[in-house]
Amino acid sequence: MDTKVVVIDREKPEAADIALLNEAAQVLQSGGLVAFPTETVYGLGANGLDDEAARKIYAAKGRPSDNPLILHISAVEELTPLVRAVPETARKLMDAFWPGPLTMIFEKSGIVPDSTTGGLDTVAVRMPSDPIASRLIALAGIPVAAPSANLSGRPSPTTAQHVVEDMSGRIEMILDGGPVGIGVESTIVDVTGPVPMLLRPGAVTMEMLRDVAGEVSVDPAVAGPVAADVKPKAPGMKYRHYAPKAELVLVEDGGDIGEAAGTDGVRRIEKAAEKADGGHASGAGRAVIDTINRLTEERLAEGHRVGILCTDETKACYPAGIVRSVGLRTSQETIARSLFAVLREFDSLGVDYIYSESFARDHLGQAIMNRLTKAAGYRVIRCGEER
Ligand code: AMP
Ligand code: MG
Repeated sequence: MDTKVVVIDREKPEAADIALLNEAAQVLQSGGLVAFPTETVYGLGANGLDDEAARKIYAAKGRPSDNPLILHISAVEELTPLVRAVPETARKLMDAFWPGPLTMIFEKSGIVPDSTTGGLDTVAVRMPSDPIASRLIALAGIPVAAPSANLSGRPSPTTAQHVVEDMSGRIEMILDGGPVGIGVESTIVDVTGPVPMLLRPGAVTMEMLRDVAGEVSVDPAVAGPVAADVKPKAPGMKYRHYAPKAELVLVEDGGDIGEAAGTDGVRRIEKAAEKADGGHASGAGRAVIDTINRLTEERLAEGHRVGILCTDETKACYPAGIVRSVGLRTSQETIARSLFAVLREFDSLGVDYIYSESFARDHLGQAIMNRLTKAAGYRVIRCGEER
């Protein structure tokens, strides 16, 4: 299949842009696949009420069929036919955060097919704020099922070029609206129970949710790996998502050490759950930098290619390896925006190991650290803990 890639003006769509959006809407209506930008990451869209069309998404991504899709709408009224009820908390959250990067889980109505929900009796719905996404959905006149437009297991796409890398030849159309603004996938909150539950952190942060909804609980799968016999509420959370090809290891400050911790002062923690609330891992202090430099030297001496993921503040501290800054430690938004692009860049550079600094877990940091620890397969090194 030939994939048509077109550039669309996000802010000021001209007649030509509208014509292309209409063409894309028709592709969706006739059961085809269109990738488009949203404010979070690029989505891979299909008619969410068409069983066949939704199945094509799984095939194009190589996605396991028990991992349900999010339905995207362009106006609040479009929610009603998709769900059995809209709980009071959902209304409050919707008023506060729609359109925007918040997905909510509802009891599904009869019109939502099983292929969209992975056989669950609930459905995930979001109203994106990106003007291209919103116009496309409105023109198509259907709820658009759209997971991230990457091959399953690869980091989510934050530019149209990333989508081209993964989806060229597999889908009808790609709308290029430039780089996305947020860079990590939407926050997911289950509103079917008495207390809303966070299933996946995102740009609508825990702090923001609690301001609006009061008590909000957190699915244990957010903090760390779940045992094989435990079902995370968002089935997608059990897969090794967002993963670069290289072995990614997160390096975290284990405490108040002022000097370098040798490799013998380094502990490997396989279970992130153990460390999830073990402190506010905010900094890349001397110990983190020295540990990353030491590990980098060791791998380079073995003949491997090594990437280092750091920030503007520390990038000058790493003399060896392929050093990439994800942004400013003082601005979580910059880090979220570049995180997946940097992981993809390491892939294209063919690195064997990536050593990454870690970040604060508050606000947007919860989403950043959730994606990073998953990308690392929960390999975390805490400097100096066992000195
Ligand atoms: P993606 O679209 O790639 O961001 O993935 C969608 C995410 O939403 C996955 O982690 C799914 O497991 C989650 N999701 C979709 N529908 C539901 C649902 N009905 N219940 C819980 N999680 C869901
Ligand atoms: Mg995804």
